[in-house]
Amino acid sequence: MIAANAAAPFLKFHRRWRRLGWHAVTGFLFGYVVLHSLSMLIFQWLDPRMAEAMPNHRAAGSLLAAAVHSFQPDMLPMGLVFGLVGAAIATFYGYHRLAVSFQRDRLAQELARNEKLRGELAVQNEELAALELANRRTTQFMAHDFKTALNCVGGFAGQLLAKPGLRDDREVAEALTCIRRQAHRMTGAVLDLLQLARMGEKGKPSVQRLSVTEVLHEAVGDFSLPAHAARIGLGDRHRRCPPLCANRDLLRRVLCNLVSNAIKHNGPNTRVCVDAEVSESGREVLFSCRDDGAGIPPEVLPLLFRKFAPAKEFSHGSSGLGLAFCKAAVEAHWGRIWCENLPQGSQFCFTIPLDKEHSHDQCIYDI
Ligand code: ADP
Repeated sequence: MIAANAAAPFLKFHRRWRRLGWHAVTGFLFGYVVLHSLSMLIFQWLDPRMAEAMPNHRAAGSLLAAAVHSFQPDMLPMGLVFGLVGAAIATFYGYHRLAVSFQRDRLAQELARNEKLRGELAVQNEELAALELANRRTTQFMAHDFKTALNCVGGFAGQLLAKPGLRDDREVAEALTCIRRQAHRMTGAVLDLLQLARMGEKGKPSVQRLSVTEVLHEAVGDFSLPAHAARIGLGDRHRRCPPLCANRDLLRRVLCNLVSNAIKHNGPNTRVCVDAEVSESGREVLFSCRDDGAGIPPEVLPLLFRKFAPAKEFSHGSSGLGLAFCKAAVEAHWGRIWCENLPQGSQFCFTIPLDKEHSHDQCIYDI
């Protein structure tokens, strides 16, 4: 059985080449018998004097005489020429068919291989999807637990800071402020992770009608520490913005991330200004967060919005998650986000379309 299987391709190959030999033989016979006789008939028709030259032409009738004459020994060279021409044409035709059949075999093999690969890929895809889901779930559980613990840490640090005895001790107060700040920062990162995971799972966030001014105030109000609040300003163009359809939590977190980055990654005297306006096209609201810090190295700009992008130019301890979250959240609203360096500092901008069509689609999902 194995030997038969192994010999099958060879036999097939052999059979095909033998068929080419048959093509040559039949082509030769066809040329000799049919084409040669036909040519005699045509010559006779063109020049009736040829018929006179043929022996027995009157007895056998002129047509038959021409055919019979083509088999006379003196016509052998001409017959051979016709035979060879017929053989050449038939061999060429046979060779062409042979090449086509080889091609067809190769394609069939290729198709079979592709089919097999597709099957394997489908299985791997399913495994990957299951793994990704499990991964996302784990991230969500962990992030949720972290969030609760961090809220506790931040809350207790705040409570302790409120106690007059402790607040008056400068060293203790500084340590508690630091604990509260770090807890707040970590909570932000955890929230980003949670929402990134949810967005990956549910696709699009649910939206509601929002006042742009209100959202900006809420985002800026999140920075309740006086040292921060004094450095964050609101522009005045946002007052002319129409209401917007967006997810309030996501929008606020995007703005908070941008403001917190501007504070975190620049010197203590940096000032931040947040604003919004209707874009030139009139079809989207353009949010901006501008700072007068050191700006962003041009080589880092293209990496900024990549998830976990590790760049040595990023600030030490950067998770590289905040801006990736902003990008995902803005794109979930069919918006765009980008960053540009200013003569002094940098400006992060993002758009949220005012388009009703998109907003309607988004209402299907809930985040
Ligand atoms: P993280 O906040 O954890 O550092 P992000 O994705 O938010 O992660 O930011 C990535 C990097 O982009 C930061 O580490 C920082 O180097 C740079 N960056 C972001 N915003 C600013 C800004 N306003 N000014 C200067 N650098 C910034």
